Amino acid sequence: MSHTQTKPITNWCPQAKPNEEGQCGTDKLAEDGRRHHCDKTPGHSDDLHSCKCGMQWKHMM
Ligand SMILES: [Zn+2]
Ligand SMILES: [Zn+2]
Repeated sequence: MSHTQTKPITNWCPQAKPNEEGQCGTDKLAEDGRRHHCDKTPGHSDDLHSCKCGMQWKHMM
């Protein structure tokens, strides 16, 4: 059987591991089409999240 399943592919940032959670649990699909993890401490109080790769984004409710 040659049965190929097409799954939606998530483009993870090279620094973000899909099977790991970001430290604060927030991730972001950025304009570059990649998904990033916030690597700040859980429950950090500033509203700016940042990934290991340097990508930063504001928390938007
Ligand atoms: Zn990143
Ligand atoms: Zn964060």
